[in-house]
Amino acid sequence: LFAPSSSPFSKSSFSVQRLISTLVLGEHEGGSIKAQSLSAVVAAKLLGEDNSISMLLAGSGPSVQEAATHAASCHSSISQVIVADSDKFTYPVAEPWAKLVQLIQQKGGYSHIMATSGSFGKNILPRAAALLDVSPITDVIEISGPQLFVRPIYAGNALCTVRYTGSAPCMLTVRSTSFPVPLTSANSKSDAAPISQVDPSTFGEDMVCKSKYLNHTSQDSERPDLGNARIVVTGGRALKSAENFKMIEKLAEKLGAAVGATRAAVDAGFVPNELQVGQTGKIVAPELYMAFGVSGAIQHLAGMRDSKVIVAVNKDADAPIFQVADYGLVGDLFEVIPELLEKLPEK
Ligand code: FAD
Repeated sequence: LFAPSSSPFSKSSFSVQRLISTLVLGEHEGGSIKAQSLSAVVAAKLLGEDNSISMLLAGSGPSVQEAATHAASCHSSISQVIVADSDKFTYPVAEPWAKLVQLIQQKGGYSHIMATSGSFGKNILPRAAALLDVSPITDVIEISGPQLFVRPIYAGNALCTVRYTGSAPCMLTVRSTSFPVPLTSANSKSDAAPISQVDPSTFGEDMVCKSKYLNHTSQDSERPDLGNARIVVTGGRALKSAENFKMIEKLAEKLGAAVGATRAAVDAGFVPNELQVGQTGKIVAPELYMAFGVSGAIQHLAGMRDSKVIVAVNKDADAPIFQVADYGLVGDLFEVIPELLEKLPEK
């Protein structure tokens, strides 16, 4: 369908595109592809069995090259890895990334472009869509066909089926919690996908943007990442202080869980806002979600209602959280958590 006349890639291994071909925007850290990006690959596969999936990575130096090697062998559905290795991509700033996606699309003619709904995808994909003059479909939780998608609306209280009728590419962000990555998805080393390098000279001066990367701070923690954890222990406003919130952290430690918080707890300064679960925070769907002193406002439920088992402890028997809880305990968290901490074995 598409044969680029002057490919920006050193290997023109994608000169003939199939009917469905997807570009997945890959996020990487420390030389590895983030698990969320693999969820986008799982989702892309649902667009059609013969979908040819390319993963686009940008960065600079050995870390992006290591990530490319990882991408080439970490999922059997990835048929090509495209790498933009340039100091323009040392940090994941959205403007040059969006420009890169536009450039790759102009040469590659993909039918779909996809990223996960984390801050990386939400930052880049809509900007790239604006450059390509298409309307993106966000927060997809189900793929029913190449142009038919399901996404939540009204803070997750209704599901909307959307048919994309615009021109190519169809651009999507997908929720990683809806597209889990099977454990057996890795490629064997022998059939690793080919890696193509983008020629940095094709980037041009319009890659320069008005945003400037300042710094990145993250908390060193041995706890699992909130977005992927199997167990999440969440505290609400009822914890009353950052000091008391440490009970939640201790419980999480004993259970090998990630810590979550409501917006009220974040706004009160008990914990940083990267721990917020909900409509304006992270979307999680762990095996077990434990909520302590959380009322269950719809904006909070929007971020956790797909959890497999929900346990709620609240002293108000009428708290809305009990409507979604599988197990509910009407009680005071200041009594329940210390008792749990005492009874749970040391890790
Ligand atoms: P509260 O609603 O104050 O509930 C505290 C609960 O603790 C009560 O149910 C109470 O009975 C119980 N309690 C009190 N003391 C104890 C005790 N000792 N033991 C046991 N239980 C006790 N919220 C989010 O969480 N995430 C979001 O992403 C989010 N996005 C929002 C976006 C918008 C546009 C808006 C308008 C709001 C958003 N909110 C969000 C806020 C949301 O509406 C609620 O205000 C918030 O979730 C309430 O947090 P909470 O349950 O901790 O506090």
